[in-house]
Amino acid sequence: MQENQDIRDAIAAICQNFPGEYWREKDRERAYPTEFVDALTESGFLACLIPEEYGGSGLGITEAAVILEEVHRQGCNGGACHAQMYTMGTVLRHGSDAQKQQYLPKIASGELRLQAFGVTEPTSGTDTSRIRTTAKRDGDDYIINGQKVWTSRAEHSDLMLLLARTSPRDAGPKPLDGLSVFLIDMRSALGNGMSIKPLRAMVNHAATEVFFDELRIPVSSLIGEEGKGFKYILDGMNAERILIASEAIGDARWFIAKATEYAKERKVFDRPIGQNQGIQFPIAKSYAETEAAALMVQKAMKNFDAGEPCGPEANMAKLLASEATWAAGDMCMQTYGGFGFAEEYDIERKFRETRLFRTAPVSTNLVLSYIGEHILKLPRSF
Ligand SMILES: Cc1cc2nc3c(=O)[nH]c(=O)nc-3n(C[C@H](O)[C@H](O)[C@H](O)COP(=O)(O)OP(=O)(O)OC[C@H]3O[C@@H](n4cnc5c(N)ncnc54)[C@H](O)[C@@H]3O)c2cc1C
Repeated sequence: MQENQDIRDAIAAICQNFPGEYWREKDRERAYPTEFVDALTESGFLACLIPEEYGGSGLGITEAAVILEEVHRQGCNGGACHAQMYTMGTVLRHGSDAQKQQYLPKIASGELRLQAFGVTEPTSGTDTSRIRTTAKRDGDDYIINGQKVWTSRAEHSDLMLLLARTSPRDAGPKPLDGLSVFLIDMRSALGNGMSIKPLRAMVNHAATEVFFDELRIPVSSLIGEEGKGFKYILDGMNAERILIASEAIGDARWFIAKATEYAKERKVFDRPIGQNQGIQFPIAKSYAETEAAALMVQKAMKNFDAGEPCGPEANMAKLLASEATWAAGDMCMQTYGGFGFAEEYDIERKFRETRLFRTAPVSTNLVLSYIGEHILKLPRSF
């Protein structure tokens, strides 16, 4: 029996109602899996990290990670709603009492969806210090101008956590000073200075571009102190990396289970293909790589829940899990031969979906650069 088996069983029971054909259709139409997100919200699992005093279940990152891993292990996809778990942390840690009282209970109950997180911009790339979206103070308001790209789920969210510049890049001692975080009510912003354009992509991730043209928001939208936004965002990144790594482990375990099952059943040259070590060994290798990566994810979540530093572990977990699932996806495609390409087996869709983990929310190179510079103390590159 695995740890948190009760949570795994409950998630597996929900996922039974959302089989491959459900996800296939959503993927084909690039449609949002509203029914799945509603089911997860109603079960309370999406609010697991919100403290009980605000209507959540006050669980740790370990339980949140188990939830998302199991969603993916069952062949479903948490991408439509996982941000609710970690974006909320910025409000929880840095929001005022009034903001927490106003938003967290409604997020916990599902009345408000906080799914959109606007950091990436077309011209800045990974160099967040160069974002160009600005927030200028004007009396009791801020006025927002600029553009975000790859803002997932913007069309399906009521609130957006937005990173914008409140003072120029060269005004403070460090380039990342002068960034601020805002919690924007997208319902009133839409059509009043904010517009959203869907971005058709390789995966069904509700990706969008969001444009701000003189959007006026009240000063009360600011989270924490002006100019400290990057630090607030950074604070949430370990949680995000651990949760994303867990999804990757779930995908890898799904690929391994699918490949194992198929290798036992599929007969070519009068024997199961899994009898050939050319098929068996890649599955075994994938299994070993995935279990090793899962141990790093566990180490990261244990440190996180104990309140200990976990930056190195969270980054290594994300790196190892995303590489393990990518290798497992390729192994699974190869095991299925031509049928791996057929939509009805779900392998090609999962293969596309799992590729995302090597790029977002942080790409492999940036994690390697973190390990090189911050753990191994190699010379700083940028
Ligand atoms: C489907 C999807 C959903 C997303 N959802 C969101 C979201 O909800 N909110 C959000 O804010 N963002 C989101 N993103 C954006 C995502 O976080 C970025 O795409 C990712 O962090 C990489 O940044 P970039 O695309 O700007 O790449 P770039 O910064 O342009 O980099 C391109 C490549 O060069 C590499 N590179 C850059 N600089 C260096 C260097 N110094 N050394 C070595 N290599 C380097 C990068 O690692 C990358 O491989 C999403 C992206 C995708 C594809």
